[in-house]
Amino acid sequence: MKKYLEKLYKKDKKTYFKLLENDLKHKHKRFIVTVNPETLMNSQSDEELKEILNCNYISLVPDGIAIVKAARKLGIKVEERITGIDTAEHLLKVANEKKYSLYLFGAKKEVINKLIEVIKEKYTNIKILGYSDGYVKNYDKIMESVIKLKPDICMVALGIPLQEKIIYKYFDKFKKGIFIGVGGSFDVLSGSKKRAPKIFIKLNLEWLYRIIKEPKRINRFINNNIKFMFKIKK
Ligand code: UDP
Repeated sequence: MKKYLEKLYKKDKKTYFKLLENDLKHKHKRFIVTVNPETLMNSQSDEELKEILNCNYISLVPDGIAIVKAARKLGIKVEERITGIDTAEHLLKVANEKKYSLYLFGAKKEVINKLIEVIKEKYTNIKILGYSDGYVKNYDKIMESVIKLKPDICMVALGIPLQEKIIYKYFDKFKKGIFIGVGGSFDVLSGSKKRAPKIFIKLNLEWLYRIIKEPKRINRFINNNIKFMFKIKK
């Protein structure tokens, strides 16, 4: 697990976002994996996910506070959290400023439809090349259509590890583009769910807010975060 923590992006969010802007400007390709305890715990038993995390071109960012703290505990200096949702929001902002193109894949039908409305209203310069909800029978068919569209940015919101696997499978078919798995971000960006209030985020308690709002997350939390913390301690 330590080797994955060592691969994390270590500087601050602002500097990382500059990197992404540079990628977009020069049509470089990037595959971003936002790492939280669930990602690393899953990788213990999931060979494909392990292969993805081991891949040398992958861009790992510390999504959860537990990841930042674990890294620091092991002597790896990670500046701050870089969350999927902040990254997604920044990419939308830049895409709007520079008229980049976008493909969105994931979440429930009503959520993705709402998000498209939000983007059309708030980010009027973004070229939306296409979108699909995440409850389709054939993921491959969607990704094959994305290859033809050649988006500058492709966000996939199918949850861990499906979103990472689907991007990984097709990444080498693209010549350019930023690809990122964004988990539940479409739910928040569309306004279907609320992100934690700023005070929760500031106090590093965003995870607690998500459990309060969705108590069924508690099992996921125990299975991933609690076990992860014990593992790091050991
Ligand atoms: N999802 C999907 N297809 C699936 C399973 C999940 O599109 O087959 C979506 C789900 O609707 C949600 C996202 O994937 O929008 C996962 O959100 P979750 O909150 O579980 O992710 P987290 O942010 O906790 O990683």
